[in-house]
Amino acid sequence: MTVTALGLPTVSGAATRPAAPAPVTGPLVDTYGRVATDLRVSLTDKCNLRCTYCMPAEGLDWLPGEMLLSTAELSRLLHIAVTRLGITSVRFTGGEPLVTRHLEDVVAATATLQPRPEITLTTNGVGLARRAAGLKQAGLDRINVSLDTVDAAHFARITRRDRLTDVLEGLAAAKAAGLHPVKVNAVLDPVSGLDDAVELLRYCLDHGYQLRIIEQMPLDAGHNWRRGEVIDAEAILGRLRRHFDLQPDPRPRGSAPAELWQVAGTDAHPAGTVGVIASVSHAFCSACDRTRLTADGQIRSCLFSTEESDLRALLRSDADDDAIEAAWRTAMWAKPAGHGINDPDFVQPVRPMSAIGG
Ligand code: SAM
Ligand code: SF4
Repeated sequence: MTVTALGLPTVSGAATRPAAPAPVTGPLVDTYGRVATDLRVSLTDKCNLRCTYCMPAEGLDWLPGEMLLSTAELSRLLHIAVTRLGITSVRFTGGEPLVTRHLEDVVAATATLQPRPEITLTTNGVGLARRAAGLKQAGLDRINVSLDTVDAAHFARITRRDRLTDVLEGLAAAKAAGLHPVKVNAVLDPVSGLDDAVELLRYCLDHGYQLRIIEQMPLDAGHNWRRGEVIDAEAILGRLRRHFDLQPDPRPRGSAPAELWQVAGTDAHPAGTVGVIASVSHAFCSACDRTRLTADGQIRSCLFSTEESDLRALLRSDADDDAIEAAWRTAMWAKPAGHGINDPDFVQPVRPMSAIGG
């Protein structure tokens, strides 16, 4: 067993090795019968913001360049994922994916794969205003922009950068480019979060963005997450109901993590929807359809995995596509039943969210 730059054990399979081997063909399945069709690709661990729930103020030791997958290596893995493993949806994330200059090229290359996967992006929106149209042209289908508040002072406190205007301009550009629907992801601050949520929902309704509020998870680099400080789904809905008429969305949820609510229109704001993602208080692991590739070429079957499978080493040892496919299948076959955040023996992964890809 080797150890990655982040101190994680790297395995060719997984810790709790299932009795039967992974299937060699068919969908990317685990021992609980879940099928992974949604690939999250982290393009970089670097970021231009310092969100308190994700990164320390001083940043992190970025992965050395030679450890990152090259564009050619990433393209090969994407080809294997789509043509052999049944991946139908690819989301680029990070770190901040917009800090990678080759993002448009990677999106364009992904759009040539057959069958063409849905291509989406999760970004903090800084610099999006000048790139949204080009990303759409390259083949991007949809976008999620992370924004926790529309209050400039709160934004600066939460992200440790004064960039609210950039993000709002990025959102507007995404909408203008036709990246529909534009979704806004919010993680609520323990101090101002409930007030922020009300103003954020007003803003999103007014601009036609779909707000999704996510419970904060123990994935911060500083390991400062405390269960009692998390604003949970119940508190979020309680506060929103004081200001909005919310009705459960009747559409089937499928594997979508967000519980959707329809917001009735009023004289003050148009109708819309809001989603609440109760990742901690009501885990949705049994419906999870995700597989994750880090910027340094490690497969993680879960955000909370404590082990990884090293595809970069295989790529660089001249392994053929069959061997890479098999390693990916073995990693996913051993996917744990759930994230275990609520178990007494839960261990937070060494990799912070920014180095996994949220
Ligand atoms: N930098 C981009 C961004 O912020 O959208 C992409 C990467 S970021 C890690 C992806 C998502 O993870 C963001 O929506 C962010 O709010 C969320 N996130 C980061 N740390 C989190 C945490 N501890 N709990 C829940 N969500 C978190
Ligand atoms: Fe950067 Fe996204 Fe983490 Fe904020 S949540 S520090 S924008 S990677």
